[in-house]
Amino acid sequence: MYVEPPENIISLHEFQKLALDRLQVLKKIEFMNDANQDHQVIKETVIKMTKAHRIAVIADRNVLSSFSMTTEERKEFRVNDNISHFICRLAYCRNEELRKWFLTQEARLFNIRLQDAQHEIIQGLLKDQCGISYQVCQESDEDWQIFRHQITFKQLKLSDQIPSNFVKVPFKEAISLVSRRAVFLHLGVAYVPVKELTTILSAHFRAKVSAELVKAYKFWPEIIKDERIQRMLINLSNHSAIDFNIYEQKAPTDGDKIKLSDLDYYSRKSFPPCMKSLFTVLRNKHHLKHYGRLQLGLFIKGLGLTMEEAYTFWKQEFCKNMDNDKFEKQYGYNIRHNFGKEGKKQDYKPWNCQKILQQTTPGPDEYHGCPFKTFSEEPLRQMLSSYGLKPDDMKVVIDKRRENLHQVACLRLYELSHPNGVSDNVGNHPNAFFNSSVQYIKDVEKNKFKRGITAPSTEVVVGTAPVETVIEKPKDVEMDQI
Ligand code: SF4
Repeated sequence: MYVEPPENIISLHEFQKLALDRLQVLKKIEFMNDANQDHQVIKETVIKMTKAHRIAVIADRNVLSSFSMTTEERKEFRVNDNISHFICRLAYCRNEELRKWFLTQEARLFNIRLQDAQHEIIQGLLKDQCGISYQVCQESDEDWQIFRHQITFKQLKLSDQIPSNFVKVPFKEAISLVSRRAVFLHLGVAYVPVKELTTILSAHFRAKVSAELVKAYKFWPEIIKDERIQRMLINLSNHSAIDFNIYEQKAPTDGDKIKLSDLDYYSRKSFPPCMKSLFTVLRNKHHLKHYGRLQLGLFIKGLGLTMEEAYTFWKQEFCKNMDNDKFEKQYGYNIRHNFGKEGKKQDYKPWNCQKILQQTTPGPDEYHGCPFKTFSEEPLRQMLSSYGLKPDDMKVVIDKRRENLHQVACLRLYELSHPNGVSDNVGNHPNAFFNSSVQYIKDVEKNKFKRGITAPSTEVVVGTAPVETVIEKPKDVEMDQI
């Protein structure tokens, strides 16, 4: 229930890593819920992810025992869980929208952890964490004797229709059960089956986290006195700059034709920053405004996607937030127009770097343009780290950007993330960056094969996860000072 703030001493690097690990889990939960995935599949995925990120797994003893974790490991997982929750709480307390997102995903995570938990665990949590212990019905109670059939009306099995299976809960605390008519209500008391206590615990959890988020915001001016922490917390809530890595990316298997299903793989490995950022925003927000759609749309056209594939690409993403009819009316024409099938029937070419750099400065909720020009330094560093750049290399690129040599900065990024790769026309055209990067990866794989290395290795460095290298000089920070 995250009652005690952590008092551990951790480095800034760990601070960021723990928070990003948790955010990957929360984002995956959001993604799977939006996609209406089966509860069991979501639960299994979350267990796998939380285990991989070494944060607390689940409250089900049966599941826990099957993990054969040592006591030390469990302790470490719990500590990581607590720290990462509190960091994210700080990062997401700043406004209503962030608070709402964090609260929704945390409540979902909490519910997943409680699924299948025995009611003794739930009752224990209610007592220990919320100081609540509900009165259990007794055979001798007058209300049980009068209303037993009404109280047990939802229990089909005779074995469940016993008084010790029900607790008396003030109706305000059982509001969601009352509203779906799942419990019997009499004189302000809801008679709740013990197996439904999860719902009540979950409501307490939501109310508690919600109140704590508001409280955390009151301390925001104190928190941001340390500029490094401030930058980090703001970045942690900027979903357009974080690569959550929530889509499955299988390496393309056949030939040179780029397929729709390959885009997630390539977006991490070979897209230049301008396209990677648009692609990430599209995946996270399921929408892009006009210039962003044009910039990314023409780029993917340049990758060789057919009009039908491009249509499916946009539709799949946009229709997570709208119905098919609205999508067709508002966006279908423009997609066909890009392919020369509407209006002047002109075959539009992908934009080159100059054209992208000349675009108007992106307004609110716009992400077009060249990140070397439009991003401030911190998000840019985050973007660069997603290409596996080390702090020294990052400095080389950032220096060029400070001189306003945006295209040179892009070329340096390519050279540093693709050592000894051919960089034909990179820095002049996003599609050249892409083509050179794809060729580079192919060559590296071919060389590995020639040298007889068949097992997967980490030799191809482009597109590594963004969490490892953002901090230049890790310094210790005490959590309780935050
Ligand atoms: S320099 Fe060109 S390819 Fe590189 S990020 Fe900017 S617009 Fe994209």
